[in-house]
Amino acid sequence: MSILALCTTFITESQPEEIIGTERNYSIFKVFLKKLGKKLKNLTRFTSKLMYFEPCIPDHLQTFLSVDVLALMFYTNFPQIKSLGKMLKDHFTSISLFMERNNENSLVSLQCLTHTILQFIKEYIQSLIKLSLQPSQIFIILTSIELFRKIQKLPLSLIIEIVNRVHENLSLITDEKNLPKYYSFLTRNVAPFLPQYSHKEFTLVLDLDETLGHYHQKKFLKRPGVSEFLLEMDQYYELVLFTASRKEYADWAMDSVDPSGLVMLRLYREHMLEDDIKNLEYIGRDLDKTIIVDNFSKSFGKQPQNGIEIKSWTGDNDDNELFKLVKALRELPFIRNRKLRELISIINIKIKQ
Ligand SMILES: [Mg+2]
Repeated sequence: MSILALCTTFITESQPEEIIGTERNYSIFKVFLKKLGKKLKNLTRFTSKLMYFEPCIPDHLQTFLSVDVLALMFYTNFPQIKSLGKMLKDHFTSISLFMERNNENSLVSLQCLTHTILQFIKEYIQSLIKLSLQPSQIFIILTSIELFRKIQKLPLSLIIEIVNRVHENLSLITDEKNLPKYYSFLTRNVAPFLPQYSHKEFTLVLDLDETLGHYHQKKFLKRPGVSEFLLEMDQYYELVLFTASRKEYADWAMDSVDPSGLVMLRLYREHMLEDDIKNLEYIGRDLDKTIIVDNFSKSFGKQPQNGIEIKSWTGDNDDNELFKLVKALRELPFIRNRKLRELISIINIKIKQ
């Protein structure tokens, strides 16, 4: 059972009838989706159709459709939330556009809209808790919270718990290794990656290896000036780590580079949706106010004008690149009427001198 089937089972409480091969047609499904906007109220029809088409729906679309199941369930039980109905219609249109065009722009706008819907439902659930509700509404909220958790990136322990509950008749799943393959998307990331609001106007995205430090003989060595660099940059920028390394290693390395945890937002290898590229478009920040510092220019190859290429550091104690960078970056947020990308290109020339 896929996650989408799992979501729809919550609604219909029955398994789909056996699906005949010729009917599993992706193009019929596309037509069905296009018409959906007009029939928002028919939740049962929507979910049973989804179950019917489920085998032909590609994995990457299943996440988005699971969000629709949740939103539609909410909308039919709380029809007074008119704005959700509108968002849902836009979401269906956005899915159809993405299926037609299958390009990056349509994917990014679909991801943004998905994020907005999830955020909206989350906030609505929080506001509902204060009201007195019918038992059926409470049931819907509880089910929604469960679905909501599934759709968001979950801690593995919770996924395992849910899967165990759904598969009561199967042997107990104890860790990731025997988690059924079709649940893998639960651990995948959905853009935009960063929380919606930033408390700073500018965002500074930092690479880890050979930028802030270097791994050597089981130790993570700190680049000269890294502590001062982070301390000062934290005053002017929202700091984000974006590393091609795995989370376990990166968190361990950051413990020595940034023991007081100034860089609270961290993105890892799993956030690099395209190989070797740190695509800033997915992080959810204004690219006119976002800078990335990396020793490997290919990392910011998608937005070369947002990138500062710093010299690779592998242990030279006389290195002063971070000190040079502090000087340039501390002034940048205060320079008005100049384009960020122009300033970055000036910094790139200066630090190479
Ligand atoms: Mg690096």
